[in-house]
Amino acid sequence: MKKIIFATGNANKMVEIRQILSDLGMEILSQKEAGIEADPEENGASFEENALIKARAVRAIAAGMEAYRDAVVIADDSGLEIDHLNGEPGIYSARYMGTDTSYDIKNNALLERLAGVPDEERTARFVCAIAAEFPDGSEEVVRGTMEGQIGHEIVGDNGFGYDPIFFLPAYGCTSAQLAPEVKNALSHRGEGLRKMRRIMEERLGGRK
Ligand code: IMP
Repeated sequence: MKKIIFATGNANKMVEIRQILSDLGMEILSQKEAGIEADPEENGASFEENALIKARAVRAIAAGMEAYRDAVVIADDSGLEIDHLNGEPGIYSARYMGTDTSYDIKNNALLERLAGVPDEERTARFVCAIAAEFPDGSEEVVRGTMEGQIGHEIVGDNGFGYDPIFFLPAYGCTSAQLAPEVKNALSHRGEGLRKMRRIMEERLGGRK
């Protein structure tokens, strides 16, 4: 069976990835399950570049491993873009105010920066780039987005990160108030993964 290695150490992401890519008929492993350690500097200027940096680093190691020489490596990079803040925190979403700072503090700081800004100027989106590195050296990268706006308070216990301030007008709640399967169906990561699944189906002929 052909193998996919997903370049992440995040267990929550792996659950979503397995759900969305399961019907490809390929074995899906996390980087850790493949025994690969790689932590390249994410110094790209876009989500796409950073996803490619991660995927290339893991693919380079897999190429030297008997079991994974023919594996496809997939990586993602994601974040929140707030229009009123010229796209901040953007590619720095995980690092915004420091990686050890709690999301309660980060979310409150963003709400503070948007104090007094009317709803129509609070537009924002979650972005996720998904990159794939194939054994023949070729690569693909796609983008998924979820549009919404920054709310006025921290609401909801589901999800993670900036979900409690990300308000979805069509649902009348934040993404931290959505059931996980509903969020997966709407999310930037879900959209990116489904686009990548279609590319994989075309390139690899689907079930093998
Ligand atoms: P990554 O793991 O390098 O892609 O970092 C993504 C960062 O963007 C996370 O640490 C969160 O701060 C933020 N982020 C990305 N996707 C989401 C989401 O679905 N909900 C909330 N925050 C997110």
